[in-house]
Amino acid sequence: MRIAVVGLGIAGLSICARLSLAGHQVYGFEQFEPMHERGSSHGDTRIMRLTPGEGDVYVRLAQRAAPLWRTWEGLAGRPLIEWTGGLMAGPRGSPFVLACQAASATPAALLRGDAIHALTRGAIAMPREWDVFRQEDSGVIAADATRAFLQRQASAWGAKLFYGKRIEAPIEGLTLTIEGEARSFDAVIVAAGAWARALLPEFAGKLAVKRRVVAWFETQTPKLLPVICVDDEDGLYGMPAPRGQYKIGLHATGGAVSDPDHVREPDAEDARMLSDYARAFLPQHNPEPVRMARCLYTVTPDENFLIAQSRAHERVLIFSACSGHGFKYAPIFGELAQEWLDGAPSEDLRALARLPVTRMGGEKA
Ligand SMILES: Cc1cc2nc3c(=O)[nH]c(=O)nc-3n(C[C@H](O)[C@H](O)[C@H](O)COP(=O)(O)OP(=O)(O)OC[C@H]3O[C@@H](n4cnc5c(N)ncnc54)[C@H](O)[C@@H]3O)c2cc1C
Repeated sequence: MRIAVVGLGIAGLSICARLSLAGHQVYGFEQFEPMHERGSSHGDTRIMRLTPGEGDVYVRLAQRAAPLWRTWEGLAGRPLIEWTGGLMAGPRGSPFVLACQAASATPAALLRGDAIHALTRGAIAMPREWDVFRQEDSGVIAADATRAFLQRQASAWGAKLFYGKRIEAPIEGLTLTIEGEARSFDAVIVAAGAWARALLPEFAGKLAVKRRVVAWFETQTPKLLPVICVDDEDGLYGMPAPRGQYKIGLHATGGAVSDPDHVREPDAEDARMLSDYARAFLPQHNPEPVRMARCLYTVTPDENFLIAQSRAHERVLIFSACSGHGFKYAPIFGELAQEWLDGAPSEDLRALARLPVTRMGGEKA
């Protein structure tokens, strides 16, 4: 089958790799250059959690992804995940912290916030009265290294990847327009992140695009620290980064975006907010960021993924796995796309899909 994949972020690359391995003729189109920094997938690191607190389906997906990450590491010839452990934290009784504890196979007792300073040899501080769940099965993903590996691997398995090629919006069926030229396919998968709203307007009402900023902080006493996810108003999260730095971001704060081609760069207000968090939570780090970067979240109202077949064109699929938590499931994205193509949706795909999954021939699965 000739399959077009629109967008080569982590989702599109995973899909290209899996479908080309399965023997399809895969054509991936990306509007920008390889490894660009204008979407959702760029950056040195992402948080990995095998028992995320976002619900059962995501725990299942993370468990499915784990052996596939190991396969990718074997193919890449290098580790892609470093298992640092994690601290899931929030005010006493936080539903998020309790959900993480409940999801764990070994649900240890909660710690109090004031234990964290000693646990991390003074590197992380948390409010005394908070609940903290220590999650052993968390770590950091080498995100850019994963993207670079997938670009190579998808090509090695036969996918044709085209960079600097913007698919014209809107997509209406199986014929795509690329630089004024029409090309037809048997199926089209739109993994276009923040740009998906324009490409498939029927889903625009379900997707909002948010601007988010991350900042890196240095210390004179580098040590390998756990990742942190905090259930507070701004949704603080943090993770180790290369060169002994620690990167933090705010899951819930940063502003909305109407046009993903015009996004405000990190500014003094972002630096102030993130510095305040560094001062409070990272007592051994210099609270002035050494670097900041912006990134786009594409979110549904309930922060679930949006993987759905077009109502107008049954062989067109939107694949939006962002909402700030998608990277860890990357190896599954290609599998879910394969299930859709085969008309054989797993329980996971059924749970995620917003519309009935239809067999390629039109028969309802
Ligand atoms: C700041 C930040 C922190 C995050 N932290 C974590 C984390 O710790 N753990 C975790 O698991 N997840 C995390 N995530 C989420 C994760 O990074 C995303 O779920 C994932 O990167 C989404 O990838 P994507 O391929 O869907 O989108 P993108 O990476 O945005 O890819 C879409 C691609 O489509 C291309 N495109 C769009 N329109 C067209 C067109 N018309 N023609 C051709 N190409 C087009 C774009 O240029 C882009 O490259 C974070 C995200 C952000 C932004």
